Amino acid sequence: TVVTRFAPSPTGYLHIGGARTALFNWLYAKGRGGKFLIRIEDTDRERSTDDAVKAIFDGLSWLELFGDEEPVFQFSRADRHREVVNQLLATGHAYRDFLTADETTILRDQAKAEGRDFVSPWRDRAPSVDDLAKPHTVRFRRPLDQAVAVDDAVQGTVRWESSALDDLVILRSDGAPTYNLAVVVDDHDMGVTHVIRGDDHLNNAARQSLIYDALGWTRPTFAHIPLIHGPDGAKLSKRHGAQAVHEYADMGYLPEAMRNYLARLGWAHGDDELFSDEQALAWFDLTGVNKAPARLDFDKLAHVNAHWLRLADDDRLAKLTLDAHLVRGRTLEPDDEARLLRAMPFVKDRAKTIPELADQTAFVLQARPLVLNEKSLGLLQGEGGARISRLRERLSLFQSWDVFALESELKVFAEEEGVGFGKIGPSLRAALTGGAPSPDIARTLAALGRDESLGRLDDALQ
Ligand code: GLU
Repeated sequence: TVVTRFAPSPTGYLHIGGARTALFNWLYAKGRGGKFLIRIEDTDRERSTDDAVKAIFDGLSWLELFGDEEPVFQFSRADRHREVVNQLLATGHAYRDFLTADETTILRDQAKAEGRDFVSPWRDRAPSVDDLAKPHTVRFRRPLDQAVAVDDAVQGTVRWESSALDDLVILRSDGAPTYNLAVVVDDHDMGVTHVIRGDDHLNNAARQSLIYDALGWTRPTFAHIPLIHGPDGAKLSKRHGAQAVHEYADMGYLPEAMRNYLARLGWAHGDDELFSDEQALAWFDLTGVNKAPARLDFDKLAHVNAHWLRLADDDRLAKLTLDAHLVRGRTLEPDDEARLLRAMPFVKDRAKTIPELADQTAFVLQARPLVLNEKSLGLLQGEGGARISRLRERLSLFQSWDVFALESELKVFAEEEGVGFGKIGPSLRAALTGGAPSPDIARTLAALGRDESLGRLDDALQ
């Protein structure tokens, strides 16, 4: 069975590039009845923080990407990594290097000046018992004069000369295993069959492949996916806008929209833009992953989000919209959620994000009596006000309060008054919203509900 993993280093928030890597791994495994695992690569003790671990898990849970097993913390496996280092030493695939850092620098510079590759003299030298007591690193003994080929599921076959790869340090002099060794051991022990990650790790795939080979372990299938670029094609950076997953949550995108959009970022299934998790799981394959960097496209993201907003439950949208109002400084009133819920069907196709839903629903949360602006007051003077007063009488007798019935009722009323609807709509809206943005007038009445609508008309006619 397929086993994939997402293996972030906890040095910062969850980046959208990381989120997409996690999503691709999740889609690939879950679409094949396999397992998706999470490994926190916290071997770099100085740069790893608990806050970052939390931020990464928060981001993944917001996206609803959960691992199938308890997460693995790489640092906790250091003993196992050292055990494998010893195994490599025992089989001659690694050697102890007693050069000090300064000596290494000198010899490396010398080799460079002479146009040679640097190789530690300890590669071919047996340490004495005295030597063994001294501090040393352990290096991987790479095969010399040999090409390393990696058959990458996205990049195709990529080759390196082994001379380009160096005898990698796998254990530091303080006994800490290094990154490339730890990744190989963990992926092997976790049963990972497919390593899907950013193509900034392509060179590591060559180094890691040699370690797999030396250990007699089967290499996983590697799939190195291109990075995400900004809309202008340049490497993604701050100036392009939000990079952290939590910023997208704050901007009012829905997680299912984000998954849909991220899946399309660098992967295609024909021309399909809008698809469900079920479809993505059924369709996702590494053969559809693009070799060229994907470009972020905020318009497309908004379009995808608008689609998922329309499909979302009104209950859920009312809660999210209420949160957005509270963030904007609203003081919670007991019936806020109920008001938003009633309005939701009439506004949700007018918004692309949750903050836009908050804009569109502000009118239903206004407290009575509304503060009418100058223009609204003007619209309710004289004949305008008289007409609204007659309409109020009529609406108070009106039982059904659904949007279609209200629409025809308004039409009939305009006909009876012998005026075009243009003579009624603006004053009615002025009385109902005081000038705040709202949907068309029948929808505004429906969104406010019967009692609130009649109450607002009364207030305005005082
Ligand atoms: N920890 C690495 C990173 O965050 C990922 C390594 C891997 O996926 O093999 O870039």
